[in-house]
Amino acid sequence: MTIQGAPSSGEVFYELTRSICPECRRSIDAKILLRDNQVYLRKRCPEHGLFEARIYGDAEAYVSAGRFNKPGTVPLQHSTAINHGCPADCGLCLDHAQHICVGIIEVNTACNMDCPLCFANAGAGFSLTLAEVEGILDHLVETEGQPEVVQFSGGEPTIHPQLLSMIEAAQARNVRHVMINTNGKRLASDDEFLAEIAALGPSLYFQFDGFEPGTCEALRGEPDLLPVKLRALDRLAEAGLSVILVPAIERGVNLHEVGRIVEFGLAHPAVRGINFQPAFHSGRHLTHDPLERITIPDVIQSIAEQTHGQFLSTDFIPVPCCFPTCNSVSYAFVSGSEVLPIARLIDMEQYLDYIANRVLPDKEEVRGALERLWSSAAVPGTPAFGEDVLQACTACGITGPQDLGSAADNLFMIMLQDFLDPWTFTQKNVMKCCKAVLLPDGRQIPFCAYNTVGYREQARTQIAAWRRAGREGQMRFNLQRVHK
Ligand code: SF4
Ligand code: SF4
Ligand code: SF4
Repeated sequence: MTIQGAPSSGEVFYELTRSICPECRRSIDAKILLRDNQVYLRKRCPEHGLFEARIYGDAEAYVSAGRFNKPGTVPLQHSTAINHGCPADCGLCLDHAQHICVGIIEVNTACNMDCPLCFANAGAGFSLTLAEVEGILDHLVETEGQPEVVQFSGGEPTIHPQLLSMIEAAQARNVRHVMINTNGKRLASDDEFLAEIAALGPSLYFQFDGFEPGTCEALRGEPDLLPVKLRALDRLAEAGLSVILVPAIERGVNLHEVGRIVEFGLAHPAVRGINFQPAFHSGRHLTHDPLERITIPDVIQSIAEQTHGQFLSTDFIPVPCCFPTCNSVSYAFVSGSEVLPIARLIDMEQYLDYIANRVLPDKEEVRGALERLWSSAAVPGTPAFGEDVLQACTACGITGPQDLGSAADNLFMIMLQDFLDPWTFTQKNVMKCCKAVLLPDGRQIPFCAYNTVGYREQARTQIAAWRRAGREGQMRFNLQRVHK
């Protein structure tokens, strides 16, 4: 029943969640609202007033993504107790709803670039010691058993003098995939370092935002960056290393370049996938309007428009391990100029609809195989990924355009990853986050909480204090270890 004569609000109040004030970072209630087939987050800080941000560019897809919400897997151990409530107890605390697929170790804060867009706010700060990283890795093994992915990040990890030993330390602990998150500059010019990296064989998570000088200038402050990036990628191909391109996409800067990035990635011998990330506004960032924020559906739509049918919006499926609006992914078999997305070969929703299909045991084998691909822990181009592809193809009955022996080599990934910032922070997403920054005191902090609620600043201050006192980080979790 409507009140006679009263105007409609024009929006649907979809649900209540918790967020933070972008000014003072206190935890506050937030409404998720559907309006004009868009999704907005609105919240009111008692001190700083009203804030609203666009969080998803397709309300219908946002609502229906719930069926891709896979039951979580708890870690073998939690590292913190519940004291103040989420997000103040990271972590992982007993309230957390997922284990860690991707463990991120920020080995330093220094960088050989000074980007206008830098969630890490790179600059003066800390450099972890090898012993600290070994302690972090040992703790990850305790909490995860066999860790899926360890990603060395920074700052710029390739300028850390002990990075090679850190990679070896992760490999010695049987981590399934080791990655380096890099801007590629050192790899473009340092022959000896490239050879040493190639001997260890990690995957490269490679910053690559586009081709135009305006894009490189706006996001990285270096209009002439492209030749350096291309040189690094060609050298990585010669060295036999696998690369995931990581473009940050900002409105008014490079959304029009996504099709060209896909075309480039499909053709480049080192590139096994692309991880598009809508620019998020933590750390250093450009001025932005939160109501105009780019989101996953915007990038998918632009890929569909700019790749002329190679990829369609329906080829992208939410990733079930984390909150399904955080990531979407598409895989395609590639043979020469032919591109065949897997979602056109099998009915993905039939297997990954966790609400409708939970009680159908005959689907479990296929679902399990697809879950290994539709996961934040999937790293194309690695031997373990190849095994997953073969198992998935066999379970799903896919013979594909190639024989199965070459299917893994010819599978190309396009992932969309929308990290949260203080305007879009949504507590329900971080509570099921599967990516965590691993700290030398033993805390494992969901990535979007680390970037938004003050943990990054706290870690920098804490480690600087240790250094002033002439000591290394020590695992604190012995004091706080929590068992279920
Ligand atoms: S984000 Fe997870 S680990 Fe952090 S406080 Fe919330 S539930 Fe706990
Ligand atoms: S975005 Fe990456 S490359 Fe740029 S300054 Fe930050 S850490 Fe360095
Ligand atoms: S890192 Fe952020 S966007 Fe990614 S899964 Fe965690 S909460 Fe979601």
